[in-house]
Amino acid sequence: MESDGGGWRNDELMQALTDEETAAVHRVYLAASDQHDFLMWEHTKSGDFTVRSAYHLEMQRQSGNEGASTPDPKTPLWKRIWGAGVPQRVKNLVWRAMRNALPTMHTLASRGVPIDPRCPRCGESAETMEHLVLQCEDSKMLWLTSPARLSDENRECESFTEWCITMSKKCTMHRAWEILMMFIWKAWSLRNMWTFERKRVSTRIACDKTMMLLGEYEAALVRDETPKPPIEPQECRWQTPTLAPYKLNIDAAVREGMIGLGMVVRDREGDTLMTAGRKVATDCLALQAEAEAMYFGLTYAFDAGYRSVEAESDCLQLVQLLRTEHRMRNATQRPCNKVVHAIARSSLSMSEETVWMDDQPDNISALVTSDKASLS
Ligand SMILES: [Zn+2]
Repeated sequence: MESDGGGWRNDELMQALTDEETAAVHRVYLAASDQHDFLMWEHTKSGDFTVRSAYHLEMQRQSGNEGASTPDPKTPLWKRIWGAGVPQRVKNLVWRAMRNALPTMHTLASRGVPIDPRCPRCGESAETMEHLVLQCEDSKMLWLTSPARLSDENRECESFTEWCITMSKKCTMHRAWEILMMFIWKAWSLRNMWTFERKRVSTRIACDKTMMLLGEYEAALVRDETPKPPIEPQECRWQTPTLAPYKLNIDAAVREGMIGLGMVVRDREGDTLMTAGRKVATDCLALQAEAEAMYFGLTYAFDAGYRSVEAESDCLQLVQLLRTEHRMRNATQRPCNKVVHAIARSSLSMSEETVWMDDQPDNISALVTSDKASLS
């Protein structure tokens, strides 16, 4: 390699190696900037290893579907799932459940994981998708209490996928399919809550929360359909990071005796990798609040493994103070910071700190999409 790291010394390579080996060396990517080497896991956007991504990879490999997991778009059920008026995470979950791609105890055991295949809640039978969503006692209660009012007979099936197909045909009334999808998702989250946190919530509360979430999502859809303001001029739009692989936007919202902190980490495509919000009871000036938000954002991003981020704030005074010691982007204008501004504002009304990994709260989805759409 050249002493400045800028390229390979071809003459030396050709003397020491065969043509094939030289070609292989040339395929090694050399960083354009003077940065340290680091290890990356290529199957997550952040480059960090997660068990979830490894599990997906293995499932794709086993089904011989690596790199081409897009299902046949003509399948009616596929269309029903992806066209449903429910949050994206619910669609993802139902889709994975239908393909038997969720790590139930039975699935894990059948893949060779040394684990008890029985249901962790009742221990009565193997934890298959059918048992987990339809047969386990807690799920039975959930379905009976839900607006779907599914009786025993309606929950009988050969396989979960078969049941989804049958139900998608039966659900012809307005919202019926959406409600069904929401409760499949809820059954899975209640199961996780018990399995990993040993927490149980009352069926009535679970039903109310699920229907509330669906209502909020529908209300947000209506809001999205109202005319949008014209696209802001170039200099006011969110820009992709140029100094680091990820961009961290932070903001603070101040209300009497209270500040709401918000942070969002996005990649070069403008996709959200992490968002977090937190409410702090304190009386402080706007500058202090912005500094709190910066500290909050940097700490949380660092803890989540984002070590090389470009930080951006819309508080010019804070940026000027920080610029003396750190590499920091210019202050951005408020419209560029609208996603994180929304997070900071909504964290004022949250009772506890919230962190979203590889996902985002529904109330910022439209703003993220609009930022992505305006990327030049
Ligand atoms: Zn069970």
